[in-house]
Amino acid sequence: ARVPALVQETPYRYQIEPTGRMRVPGVVFASPGLLPEVGGDQALQQVADVATLPGIVDASYAMPDVHWGYGFPIGGVAATDIAEGGVVSPGGVGFDISCGVRLYAADVDAADFAPRKEAVLDGLSRSTPRGMGKGAVWELSGAGQLAKVLASGARYAVEQGHGVQRDLDRCEDFGAVDDADPAALSERAVKRGLHQLGSLGSGNHFLEVQVVDAVRDQAAAEAYGLRAGQVCVMIHCGSRGLGHQICTDHVRAMEQAMAGFGITVPDRQLACVPVDSDPGRAYLRAMASAANYARANRQLLGQAARGVFERLTGAGLDLVYDISHNLAKVETHRVAGGAGAAGAPRRLCVHRKGATRALPPGHPDLPADLRDLPDVGQPVLIPGSMGTASYVLTGVPGGPAFASTCHGAGRTLSRHQAAKAVRGQELRQLLESRGIAVRGASWRGLAEEMPEAYKDIDAVVEAAEGAGLARAVARLVPVGVVKG
Ligand code: 5GP
Ligand code: MN
Ligand code: MN
Repeated sequence: ARVPALVQETPYRYQIEPTGRMRVPGVVFASPGLLPEVGGDQALQQVADVATLPGIVDASYAMPDVHWGYGFPIGGVAATDIAEGGVVSPGGVGFDISCGVRLYAADVDAADFAPRKEAVLDGLSRSTPRGMGKGAVWELSGAGQLAKVLASGARYAVEQGHGVQRDLDRCEDFGAVDDADPAALSERAVKRGLHQLGSLGSGNHFLEVQVVDAVRDQAAAEAYGLRAGQVCVMIHCGSRGLGHQICTDHVRAMEQAMAGFGITVPDRQLACVPVDSDPGRAYLRAMASAANYARANRQLLGQAARGVFERLTGAGLDLVYDISHNLAKVETHRVAGGAGAAGAPRRLCVHRKGATRALPPGHPDLPADLRDLPDVGQPVLIPGSMGTASYVLTGVPGGPAFASTCHGAGRTLSRHQAAKAVRGQELRQLLESRGIAVRGASWRGLAEEMPEAYKDIDAVVEAAEGAGLARAVARLVPVGVVKG
């Protein structure tokens, strides 16, 4: 397909004018420097394709870390108007439902941590099941107990002794979303969920020890519990085989059901049905189950890491935040134009795929201790790569794209290209020589994740700030990584 033309509107905002069946424009947030990486693949065509979906409002958005994905681009945000026949699409959420990031602040600084680093990394390596089907922190007793995880997420894990109240106070949705329906999952989804609770999975998923390298916003950093020189633990993983199976099941069901609703899409991978329909509601309930599984998963891995830190350093781990970057949410937003009166609040299904919600200061869904602070929004956690920086951002008032921002640096090289460019052994040596301890799961997996496979995280965050999507709070650098 032809790459759609981009028109620059402001230094960090480009538009794809509606052509063909596009119902709204495409909007790409990027700096001129990032643009070649944005247009270099089929991601822009995917941004345009998403703009054809029934009920889409405002624009089909791409974040500065956008790259090619299944149907929807990764780094894409699209909202549909539920009352106007707006659709929900599993491709707009992704296979790893509720994949996300959790960040803990350790009560220890880099200098005091250094002598214990190798021992802690060994401990974390042992306490973190990872790779293909290699065990889990919590072996569930059966489908009955799994149903409790799916219904109550991290809340159930904490109830069962795997965490503390603060872990829920600082988790998106306070640890669990409503509307999960564990009984509706396929037998295969259940089977895949039983033995993976508390495991990283492979590839891009990781548990990383980082140090706060620079504080960019003192007030927000303080509110989040972060200071320069502090050690942090970042965990990135999702809903494992269970989420993947749910996505597969519902894409298949929607491919069948779509025609009955008179919906055609330019790409099969955009299979979708109205939110307000039986298959639409069924998907959202299954998605909610996976979202709760993912939160419980990160909770258990975090709790295991906490045990290692306490035992080997005496330092506690305080949750900064836990946020998904693959999720659809029913939210109310004011949208100019369209069927409603200009600017009237509308109930939307907001798809964020490889994109992070970034609530503004004062939002009622913020953790209670952050809600009343004038200039502090929701913590946004942005991993970069195992060899570069990662960031903590904060949500800002009036953010475009339904209060969303990027979710990472975003890939520029495919896994295959990266694995051809470097050997895992060499990469490990290079990282170790730069003071980054590496505990991998496979050499090939490590090579696929070489830092050069990703965009420049500093440029991505600068673009997110420049576009008014979020504001930087702290820059973190890696000192050790446990790779999936
Ligand atoms: P995704 O959810 O799209 O798989 O990955 C999110 C982001 O995580 C990627 O765009 C990349 O920037 C970042 N990332 C991948 N591997 C690592 C890692 O080992 N450490 C850190 N800090 N970030 C990573
Ligand atoms: Mn992810
Ligand atoms: Mn994932």
